[in-house]
Amino acid sequence: MGRQTSTIVEQSLRVLMENNSILPQLAGNRREQVFQSLGAILSTPNKTHKAFLRITLDSGEVVRIPAYRIQHNDALGPYKGGIRFHESVNEDEVTNLAALMTLKNALHDVPFGGGKGGVCINPRQYSERELYMICKKYVQYFTGILGPDKDIPAPDMGTGEREMDWMTAEYKSVHPGQPYLGCFTGKSIAFGGSLGRKEATGRGVYFVFKYLLNHYVNKHLSLLDAYHNPYVTTAKRYINRPLTIAIQGFGNVGSVIASEAFKDLEAGHKVVAVSDRNVTLYNEQGLPIDKLFVFSQSHQGELPTNEQQLQTAGVQAEILDREAVLYADVDTLFLAALEEQIHQHNVANVKAGIIVEGANAPITGEADEALAQRNAIVIPDILANAGGVIVSYFEWLQGKDTRFFSEEHVYELLYEKMQTTLDQVLPLYFEQPQQLRQCCFNHAVMRLSNILYRQGKLY
Ligand code: NAD
Repeated sequence: MGRQTSTIVEQSLRVLMENNSILPQLAGNRREQVFQSLGAILSTPNKTHKAFLRITLDSGEVVRIPAYRIQHNDALGPYKGGIRFHESVNEDEVTNLAALMTLKNALHDVPFGGGKGGVCINPRQYSERELYMICKKYVQYFTGILGPDKDIPAPDMGTGEREMDWMTAEYKSVHPGQPYLGCFTGKSIAFGGSLGRKEATGRGVYFVFKYLLNHYVNKHLSLLDAYHNPYVTTAKRYINRPLTIAIQGFGNVGSVIASEAFKDLEAGHKVVAVSDRNVTLYNEQGLPIDKLFVFSQSHQGELPTNEQQLQTAGVQAEILDREAVLYADVDTLFLAALEEQIHQHNVANVKAGIIVEGANAPITGEADEALAQRNAIVIPDILANAGGVIVSYFEWLQGKDTRFFSEEHVYELLYEKMQTTLDQVLPLYFEQPQQLRQCCFNHAVMRLSNILYRQGKLY
């Protein structure tokens, strides 16, 4: 488990141990022993699987590529978590992401455990045939541990429905005659995917942001005022008015957040900055996200990087360096690119009062502390970006049943589930001044403590 995650989990364990309404049947040394046991379980994965995938490149050269599947915990159900193709993939990173999945599924009451996979490659440097072979080999090497009731991977950074379809097809041929639709999620619609899955994470992120401010704070304003909580004061600065928005990352998650904000005419928010691996585009009047989306679709997911491309896209914007998005003078900053983007060396330059984690772990522990000190509202990854895994759960259900939901029904179910979680954690956040991330972890660890105790695992 990464340092930040383990520090928060340790704090949750302390809080829960002192709260006698959690596992009330336990007291004294026995209580301490049970919580120590819970800490040991959560801080280590159940199983770590590593393989070197042997691939023949198009050049004829044979290479062996490091690949991982980390199964963190399955107390709540089969392991579940994406497979990442990125050159920075390593065992520690995948283990940390697997632990986050255990906690995320527990928080949102999704009946899955936590897992994660990774292959240490830059997928942009491989041909389609080579990527196909990598996907096939991944399934062959890990075939014994994967399956609809064992461990169900999904896309993550560098992978998408194409890779999930290839992997599902390989699983199907390795396990003839067995059910296979529930073995991977994030598949194409044609091959048993769920309507709405692709946009689920981005739409879920925007829903959480909007629900917190417009529905929760607005609805409970007189009650919240009585708490004299600095986060309530911050929230009040951002309700009932159009906000300016900056978004880091214009991929699957970022572009959908941008489109949701752009289409939200009732709120009247303005997306003034978006960025990707190359540039930040800025326009204080607001960017035409629809045009940028169309451009990126026909330019390998990338934003315009020069005046000529801006003209082609029909967009007026200043072209700034890719980090500029983080320091834009905006009300809200969505982080939807990668890890550790706001850290102790740049946090002082971040001006947004609300920061939403669409990506996993984009804010380091030190930066998180600094943002808390200035009472910024940070909506954490574990809460905000769970739309993907929640709709993956619906895809898994549909695959098992071979009966498929309409897109409308998928979003109805998604928002209902996210709202249930928000209604559980937001009162904790606004009643006493503590970070929303900590409230979410407390809630997830509480759920895990109950189930692990009932399963007889905490001795
Ligand atoms: P993606 O690959 O589709 O998009 C990533 C975006 O980040 C791209 O626009 C890319 O250009 C940009 N980017 C890459 N390097 C950058 C850099 N150094 N600086 C600025 N921008 C950079 O990925 P995605 O699926 O949108 O995922 C984004 C994040 O959200 C990842 O952390 C992922 O783990 C997390 N996440 C994704 C999902 C999902 O369903 N896709 C679910 C949960 C969490």
